[in-house]
Amino acid sequence: MFLLALVELRCEPQPRQEKPIASKPLALIGATILTAPSAPPIVDGVIIVEHGKIAAVGPGSAISIPSRADILDVRGHTVVAGFWNCHVHFIEPKWSDAAQQPSAQLAANLAQMLTSQGFTSVVDTGSLLANTLDLRRRIESGEVPGPRILTAGLPLYPKDGVPYYVSETLPPEVVKLLPTPATADEAVRAVDVDVAAGADLIKLFLVTGVRVDGRIVLKSMDPAIVRAAVSEAHRLGKPVAAHPSTITGLELALTGHVDILAHTIQDPENWTSAVVSRLAAAHVALVPTLALFGPMDNSRRIVEEVKSYAAAGGRIIFGTDVGFLSDYSALKREFVLLSEAGLTLPQLLETLTIAPARQFGREAHSGCIAVGADADLVVLKGTPPDGTRILTQVSYTLRAGQIIYTATE
Ligand SMILES: [Zn+2]
Repeated sequence: MFLLALVELRCEPQPRQEKPIASKPLALIGATILTAPSAPPIVDGVIIVEHGKIAAVGPGSAISIPSRADILDVRGHTVVAGFWNCHVHFIEPKWSDAAQQPSAQLAANLAQMLTSQGFTSVVDTGSLLANTLDLRRRIESGEVPGPRILTAGLPLYPKDGVPYYVSETLPPEVVKLLPTPATADEAVRAVDVDVAAGADLIKLFLVTGVRVDGRIVLKSMDPAIVRAAVSEAHRLGKPVAAHPSTITGLELALTGHVDILAHTIQDPENWTSAVVSRLAAAHVALVPTLALFGPMDNSRRIVEEVKSYAAAGGRIIFGTDVGFLSDYSALKREFVLLSEAGLTLPQLLETLTIAPARQFGREAHSGCIAVGADADLVVLKGTPPDGTRILTQVSYTLRAGQIIYTATE
């Protein structure tokens, strides 16, 4: 049947090999559709999903619904592209032995942490690589409903610089595995091992706090080690995310050509307009993780860092550090804090969708609702303008056209 393709945006479809997708079409009907963050809403819209892709999208009056399609009536809802969370961790005990856990248990854990919040793609910035790859394998086989996972595997730390909140919480046998390269050659080898084992990106801790005689002392990664690790990662085609902590770490990130700051910095007095200009000029992406800093005395000023980077046109990609943060409701605080940083609903959607898709080279498939793009969708209860609260009202999450989360109420 001929389907009218009314909306063709920045996603350029390309063939790709993934798990087999059921061929029966699915029609989402009656929704307000935001095909891209700033696109005018389509009211009473229809999305046809076929073979895991968007086959058609437009006003209901202009779209033919295949007679054999399953219908998902989503009147009173808004449909947006699937969300990305660019800072997560699969390190809580619930993820251990991912190869053997009952699939229902893994699915419930994934729903609780990610898919109930609309995340269809996540970037794990530090975990035991083999275990996370086991989890990914079970998701990609179709056995466990879950998000697409990109993973950094084990991060690299400064020599003698495993932070106290890692060394004092992880089992000693795991702490012993953490790479703390002492030389540029060791850093290159650590990157090579990580990538050969299946890592999609490299994570560096540039400045960390370690406990010495009861006091927290800061340790920095040697600049030559940073440069060597980044250059090797880039040679292998992998992006690098870094944990800067302070302006010292941020300077290391800039001089080392790091791609992504996995947090903003904790010393806002050093976040100057000159720093903002240099970060923006270097096209460094910023993952704010503002809720993580919420309890700190200077958290208001840390919010201002994000405000100035957004105002300067810097790329902001959404991330929460969930998994390290065991309070999953921090997501709501993150949206509130980003709103206080001046981000509008379209800007928030940009950080959740097309900006991370571009950052990770998936804009041909992900980040907007367009014919040929992956049918990664979030169905939100309500219609704009409802403010940013709507982003937390997830009724359904779909990945590649499959419903991977349904709200129970
Ligand atoms: Zn983290």
